[in-house]
Amino acid sequence: MEIDWSKLTFSYRPVNCHVEYHYKDGQWDKGEEKTSPFITLSIAAECLHYGQEIFEGLKAYRGKDGKVRVFRMDMNAKRFQNSAHRCCMAPVPIEMFEEAVERAIKANMDFVPPYGTGATMYIRPVLLGTGPQIGVAPASEYTFIVMVMPVGAYYKGGLQAVRACLVDEYDRAAPHGTGMVKVAGNYAASLLPHEMAKKAGFPIDLYLDAAQHKYVEEFGSSNFIAITRDGKYVTPDSPSVLPSITNDGLQQVARDLGIPVEKRPIDFMKEIGDFAEVAACGTAVVITPVSEIVRLKTGESWKMPTGDSCGPVLQKLYDTYTGIQWGALPDSHGWLKEIC
Ligand SMILES: *Cc1c(COP(=O)(O)O)cnc(C)c1O
Repeated sequence: MEIDWSKLTFSYRPVNCHVEYHYKDGQWDKGEEKTSPFITLSIAAECLHYGQEIFEGLKAYRGKDGKVRVFRMDMNAKRFQNSAHRCCMAPVPIEMFEEAVERAIKANMDFVPPYGTGATMYIRPVLLGTGPQIGVAPASEYTFIVMVMPVGAYYKGGLQAVRACLVDEYDRAAPHGTGMVKVAGNYAASLLPHEMAKKAGFPIDLYLDAAQHKYVEEFGSSNFIAITRDGKYVTPDSPSVLPSITNDGLQQVARDLGIPVEKRPIDFMKEIGDFAEVAACGTAVVITPVSEIVRLKTGESWKMPTGDSCGPVLQKLYDTYTGIQWGALPDSHGWLKEIC
């Protein structure tokens, strides 16, 4: 097997195997490494009819010492339990989640990219309601899958800013809906505005709160963060925003660097023109600086002072955060777990 690590993108590719566990009669089995990337489902499986499906996304990094470490997997395990609870699914015990991730990595060690390529191993846990269910009720059987794949460095050179559009025509998540959990259905609902945005030339789409269209919520698949002119890190406080682990970690790194952090409502029209730096954040890319935000409904536009590049504060946060992930900086919060 020859992989050109420098040419990898963020896309699916088959590997040695995935790990698969089944829940039946009230308990989980021991799980199995499976080489076939296909599963057999009842045509009446709950996930197919009523969307009972949740997922996670996390990464493993090969350090300079050759060791492979996974980043904050306990956080993903907890969030997975919250998502399962919201969708009435059999929760995956924290230890089982971590065991599954380790098994999937260990069985695919030759697909963990070497240090220095910027490429990582992306880990995608999925929980499906697989029991046959035609009357609306939670499934009685579940399948838990952990699949892994090597993904390329997103930035080949330095951080590149992108244009974002503000979408008013569609909402991402309702105030008491499922915005705070990683449910597959949220993504099904987001595809149309996301494709619309892409066609209009905007790689990322921003959403305001669904009730008033006044406060910033988040981007389609990443959180909103900004640096104020007086050097504070601000991010929306909203119960319908997905609690991003990247955002949480960047806040911690900011505090460590003496940067004040404010989690509070952000009034879009009042504040957007005043920020020194704006970005999206999430596991896949860590930080995506935003160069401009265009409100599609009105045609209004706000250009960020940082232009096409990344602002100095976000760059510092990015360098520190990714330095910890690669094992190049001290892991003072115990975020990394060595796999082998
Ligand atoms: C997964 C996700 C994020 C990013 O979360 P991370 O834990 O940082 O990867 C942000 N917003 C939404 C809607 C998501 O689904």
